[in-house]
Formats: sequence, C-alpha cells, structure tokens
Amino acid sequence: MNLRHRSDDGYTSAPPTPHGPGLHDERGVAPAILWSVADDPYAPPGPASVRCVLCAHRCLLRPGRRGICGVRENRDGALVSLVYGELVAAHLDPIEKKPLFHVLPGSTSYSIATVGCPFRCGFCQNWEIAQAPRERIRHTTFHVEPVEVVDAAVAMGARSIAFTYVEPTIFVEYLLDVARLARRAGLRTVLVTNGYATPESIEVMAPWIDAANVDLKGFDDATYRRICGARLAPVLETLTGFRAAGVWVEVTTLLIPGHTDDPAGLGELTAWIVRELGPETPWHVSRFFPAYRFGHVHPTPVETIRRAAEIGRAAGLAHVYPGNLGSHADADDGVTRCAGCGALLIARSGYRIVEVRLRDGRCPACGRALPGIFDGAPSGGPGSSGADPVEACATGFDGPAAAGAGPGGRS
Ligand code: SF4
Repeated sequence: MNLRHRSDDGYTSAPPTPHGPGLHDERGVAPAILWSVADDPYAPPGPASVRCVLCAHRCLLRPGRRGICGVRENRDGALVSLVYGELVAAHLDPIEKKPLFHVLPGSTSYSIATVGCPFRCGFCQNWEIAQAPRERIRHTTFHVEPVEVVDAAVAMGARSIAFTYVEPTIFVEYLLDVARLARRAGLRTVLVTNGYATPESIEVMAPWIDAANVDLKGFDDATYRRICGARLAPVLETLTGFRAAGVWVEVTTLLIPGHTDDPAGLGELTAWIVRELGPETPWHVSRFFPAYRFGHVHPTPVETIRRAAEIGRAAGLAHVYPGNLGSHADADDGVTRCAGCGALLIARSGYRIVEVRLRDGRCPACGRALPGIFDGAPSGGPGSSGADPVEACATGFDGPAAAGAGPGGRS
C-alpha cells in the first residue's frame, strides 16, 4: 500500500510524474495514495497493473488506464491523481447549504471541488463537473495550492472548508493537504460525500475531517446499482465507519419519484439510521428536481416529502429536516428542537439562521446537549469559530473557475 507520511502531521507527495497526458495538462498530476501493485496474471508484459482502494469500486488499472472516476490513472505501474489542485469550483457557502444543520450554525464554509466522481447518477445536479471526464466535458480549471485555499477561507471569514459539489474523496491527496493546513489555521473541515469510501480511505481521512454529510440515496441495492452504478453496502459501512472514527455525520436522502420514494424502503432506511447511527442523527429529506438524464422525471410532490418526514419521525429520528422545498417550506422545516423537552433551539429560513437559542451547545430550557459541533476551535483535532451567513458566491482567487455562480445542486 502506498501510504507515505511526513514526519509531522500530513502525508507528502513526490514530484509530479513528468510524462504522459493529464486530464487537461500536467499541472494536476501528482502521485496517488491508497493503491497497491495488483496481482493481474493475464496482464501483458510491461509495467504493473495497480489496484486503487480509495473507493469501494477498487478499480484494477492496467498501464495507461483510468479508473471509473476518470481522474486516477496508472502511469508506468504507479497510480497518479490527475486533479491535484485543479479546482473547477470555489465558493463561500452557508454551512446550511451542505446541508449540515448541527455544525457551526450561521457560519460560512469555503467550498471547493475538482471534476470527477465514481458514481454515474443520472439525476446529478452537478453533472457538468461530476461527470466531466465521462461526458468528455473540458472545463477551465484553476490551479490552487492548498495554502491558497486556506488563506482565501480565512480572508473571507469562513469557519470551515468544505470538500463538496462532486465526490470529494476522488481528490483525497489534495483534500488531505488542504485539511492539514486548515486545522493549523483554526478551520473545521467538512465532506459532502456519496459515502463510497473504503475502510482504508476512512482511516486516512477521518483524522482530518470534522463532519460529513453522507448521501444515503435509498435502502435497496438494486436501485443503487441501477441509478448510481454502485452498491448499497459500502455506503452503510462508510456511515458507520465515519461515526466510529468520531466524524460528525448527517444524512441526506433525495426522494426521486418512482426510484427512491418507496415508503417501505424509507421505513427501513430510517430505522437503520436510528439503530446504527443514533436517533439524534440529522436526516435531510430532499426534494428532487429534473436534471441530467432524469429530465423526464417530475419534481417530487411536496406531500411525498411530508410523508417521508413522518416516516423518519415515526422510526424515532429526532431531527428530520425536509429540504429543497422553496416556497412550499413550512416555518417548522428548518427548526431544530431539543430531543428532550421539545424547546426550540435553532430556527432557520432556507439557508438563513433566524434564531439560535442554543447555549454552549445545550438546550436553555432543560440543559440537554444537542449533538453536533457548536463551538471551540480545532487544535490538531476537531474544533472551530464564527461569521455571518453569506448567500452570494465569492472566491479568494481570480480566474475562470472563480467567476461563476456555484454548482446548482447539492453543495
Ligand atoms: S477512486 Fe476512482 S480509480 Fe479509485 S477505486 Fe474509486 S473509481 Fe476506481
């Protein structure tokens, strides 16, 4: 296994491989971690095949081939990342947009992404960047060193850096370098992920990640295979793996009519969250809108979201948040109440914080702690500080990738 570590607190990379075509050019090529030389008895003579163990696809790559994500390549018998520091998006978002409702409410998160994803979800809201390698879309990217990301986040008053918009584990080498510097600067780090990590990659990432919003797109393996090109079991293992490693976990389920809105399946899914992650795990149940290859599917009826929320509450979940409802949202949809006495703790309107009654992370009425991350600065491990909510996109560097609005879907 190729896991090189520095003597201080981060992993290090050798100089970029100086040959062969990159995704766009050679700027983003860097040695990868989490792979090994593969036993491939039928491979032709020449450089070795390698096995990437970053995500649960565990791709076998012969020389010159790329993995399913499209951004990791076998070059002469060694795995390289093609997207180190090659940002296609960088924006200042409210943390509520991730969505993370129990992490530093009202703060902003400097949110970054490269291209690529190991899933092929036909309903992806950010498919132009997530599926760019597969769809052969060439974006203008902007090479940003990890220290520049952290400097930009600090300069803009963000309290965290979010690895998001696409599946962020595919740029794990860059993610780790940014996260290590972010901790030193007193910033939190958050993942918005499809949950397809392996135990090996969780072990590497978890010490540097404070919180994760994990998509749990359904509770049926056949559905996962059909609409995402992936399996359910690794996602469940990622959820329990991050939680066991001390990462704060919130779960999001997108209800796609006819695909992931089956009430029985939602009953199983929410019962599993209660049993394996705990009843105070926030569950965001989100409304679908037509996108990408699912342009023919109608938006989720609002009543389907309401029914799913009731299923979650009936299963025992204390913090259920209907989302993406726009003008259909109720005043109570963004409210966090104490799981003990029912007192209002946090009120939100969309991504905006209306009121925070929480005191030192506890209910002001009964003193019960609200699970999550609410104060304290990180010190080598988890922790952080504050800023006003910002709805507009902003970036800390100039260039094409910084100029546009943020990706339109889940952030
Ligand atoms: S990260 Fe990419 S190359 Fe590695 S196993 Fe997953 S899809 Fe394959």
